[in-house]
Amino acid sequence: MSQGQLRYRGRCADCPWVGRPFIRYGTAEAAARDHARANGHICFVVDQYDLRIAGSTIRW
Ligand SMILES: [Zn+2]
Repeated sequence: MSQGQLRYRGRCADCPWVGRPFIRYGTAEAAARDHARANGHICFVVDQYDLRIAGSTIRW
């Protein structure tokens, strides 16, 4: 699997957490949701260019 296929990763608005990169948006979002719930933080998902995906904000 090429690194270029790993398009999505979670990020946190409240701490420096960065999720593992995943091919599927839903997987990255699930990881971000876990972090948000575990820490009470607000997370979102970014693409391979580190640009925030519209509508991906996750509030615990
Ligand atoms: Zn966090």
